[in-house]
Parts: sequence; structure tokens; C-alpha cells
Amino acid sequence: MNIEQLKARFRATLAHKYNTSEIDLFLELCCESFDAISRSQLLLNPEIDVVSHYNKALERLENGEPIQYILGETTFYGLSIHVNTSVLIPRPETEELVDWVVQETSSFNNAKILDIGTGSGCIALALKNSLKQTTVMGCDVSTEALKVAKQNAVNLNLDVSFCTCNALTESLPTADIYISNPPYIAEEERSTMDDNVLMFEPEIALFSKDDPLKFYKTIITLAARNKTLSYFETSEFYISQLRDWLVNNGLNFEFRKDVNGKTRMLKVWF
Ligand code: GLN
Repeated sequence: MNIEQLKARFRATLAHKYNTSEIDLFLELCCESFDAISRSQLLLNPEIDVVSHYNKALERLENGEPIQYILGETTFYGLSIHVNTSVLIPRPETEELVDWVVQETSSFNNAKILDIGTGSGCIALALKNSLKQTTVMGCDVSTEALKVAKQNAVNLNLDVSFCTCNALTESLPTADIYISNPPYIAEEERSTMDDNVLMFEPEIALFSKDDPLKFYKTIITLAARNKTLSYFETSEFYISQLRDWLVNNGLNFEFRKDVNGKTRMLKVWF
């Protein structure tokens, strides 16, 4: 099967789920990942037999599985990050949060940074890669997630340590800076979410049962004890509730918008 036939099959099979440019991008990513053959090489040599890998990928895509899990990797802040269904797929808005911390921390030599709810380790690893002088740690309640994070640190040759910690019930390691993209989706939002998120991404990384602000309240309360500067990704839906809580507690804070103009980041200091 040549690339044009493959493309036609991908388009025909996935047209009910994705638009043509998305489908073509999936195929391109599969080409690169499976055979390290770029699209142009395949075009030059249309008889390359690549069928079995592609059949499997196509089946999984048709089933709604995110391309990042199928390929087992994604790119985050310029790093190749291994992912599986134990971890959240890193999102572009999280790169903006990392960028904020990198901008504000570059002159803060030897800072000790803790990434809370590290998942794949993407935030911790991106920070260490950009801020070589810092000491970076990541923690997560999920031991399966921590296996992925540790593997990523080895793959990327970055010196980041990871430990198990439940931020809601345990005290956190001390640090100069906390950063977190905590679970912040409320149960009521489930019906508005895409199937490919709900069916494949880990619930524990997405949902904050009972109170969508509980991770913020808990982490900020812990941070206040040692006056730890803290950065968070936030849901665009709970900004006013979160602002009210911060004001009521007399805290210093700044919200920031992402490139789409949505308020998605928060900094708190003491
Ligand atoms: N820190 C990881 C990320 O931002 C995981 C976050 C989470 O599991 N809520 O992608």
C-alpha cells in the first residue's frame, strides 16, 4: 500500500470523527514515529510496506484514542515526553505556565522547585531543562504516573527527583517555588467533555470531586506556612470563586490569560 492509498484509507475511516487536516496530521505523525520515515521519503518511495503498524493505529484512532497515547509520546516545551494512559496528555496552556515560571525564575539561582501532581513529569522536566541551576522535584499520588515521570527523566537525561505524595492529605516537601496543574474539573462538566478525554485520560488527573478548588485551597494553605511562591494552572470556569477565596484570605495574587485570552494561570505569594 502506498502513501496515497494509506491516506485515502485514513480519511475514509476517520472522516466521521476528525477533519481532513487532522487526519493527515495523524498519518504524518504515524509515519515519523513508526518508521522514522518522513512523509516526503514515503512519497519518494511509495511501495514501502508499512501496513500492519498503520492498521493498528487506524483501529485505535477510530476507537477515539488520542494520537499521543497511540504513538506513546508528545512534545512539551521542546521536549519529547513519553505518555501512556496513566498520565494526562500535556497541554499547550501548561507550556505557558512553565514559560511564566521560567521568565520569573531565570535570575533566581539555585531555587528549589516542586511540581505537585507531576503526572508525566512534563512541567518538572521542562523547568529543569530551562533552569539548569535549579533543583527540581515532582510528586504525584499515582505510582503508575511516577513510573512514567521517572522514565522521562532518564530518557531526557535530566536530574529531577520524583516522590509519592498526596497533596490533599500529606505535608508537601519544602521548596522555594511550588507549581501545579492540579485536577480542576467538576463532575457537572463531564457531559460537556470529549469522549476521547473521558474514555482514555486518567480520571484522577482530571476531576476534583466535591469542590473544584480543593487542590488550590489545600496547596496554598500549605504554601502559606513557609511563604512558598506558588504558580498554578486554573480552570477558566472557576476564576471568580478562586479570586473570592484569595481575597477573603488576604492573599497576594495575579491571574494571567493564555494566548487564547482565557484566564488560565495564577501566581500567589506571601
Ligand atoms: N503535571 C501534569 C501536566 O500538567 C499532570 C497534571 C495532572 O495530572 N493534573 O500535564
